[in-house]
Amino acid sequence: MGDYAQRRRDREENLAPLHPPEPAPDAAAIEAGRRLFAHECRFVIAAAEPAQLPLDELPEVAFFGRSNVGKSSLLNALTGRNALARVSNTPGRTRQIVFFALDQLMLVDLPGYGFAQAPKKEIGSWQKLVPLYARGRAGLKRALLLIDARHGFMAGDRQFMKLLDEAAVSYQVVLTKCDKVPAAELEARIAAMAAELAKHPAAHPQIHVTSAVTGFGIPELRASLAAFAG
Ligand code: GDP
Repeated sequence: MGDYAQRRRDREENLAPLHPPEPAPDAAAIEAGRRLFAHECRFVIAAAEPAQLPLDELPEVAFFGRSNVGKSSLLNALTGRNALARVSNTPGRTRQIVFFALDQLMLVDLPGYGFAQAPKKEIGSWQKLVPLYARGRAGLKRALLLIDARHGFMAGDRQFMKLLDEAAVSYQVVLTKCDKVPAAELEARIAAMAAELAKHPAAHPQIHVTSAVTGFGIPELRASLAAFAG
């Protein structure tokens, strides 16, 4: 157990939370992120149909990814609230887009994709609602594309990247569960992903490296999101 904790520390000390590590957020940006995420996070609506999408009056950042990528865990780690987004291993809530208002920033939790066992009806409504949201949302400042550090890009992610490129929605990769991957393997995966991202016109070159379990990269991600708050 002790060995494991030490190995994990060593691994994280050798990693930067941002790849490539150009300009890492300074202390003021980290503090702005901390302050923003210390605000009350207010549930706004769970939209199951286009007509239920709220007016986009606040700047928005949206969280996308395969189901089970660690999206609920990341949202909980960012906001420090354990029950904010339901943590679940089962592909359940596949139909709703959930909006949370955090002071002057809207956090948008999109249903996960790649859920082989989901009923056809649910997959159908995902295919309708999520692209509609992604393509037509004026307030959407940045899409965060969550990728499991153990797997890298998968077919569903690539399809979604294509959609975001075509819609000219700026997106950035956030690697989740980095505590589960040895540092050397993670570095190689990040290098391969960065090379692939360079070919995507709407992709941000920096990759956020995070772990909801150890908290690695969470202050830096908060800092980067705080820059979008109105
Ligand atoms: P979602 O379906 O994308 O919302 O994924 P969840 O947040 O429910 O996480 C899926 C599984 O991955 C759960 O068993 C989590 O405990 C686990 N998990 C999520 N984030 C991390 C992480 O940073 N590290 C580790 N080791 N496990 C994680």
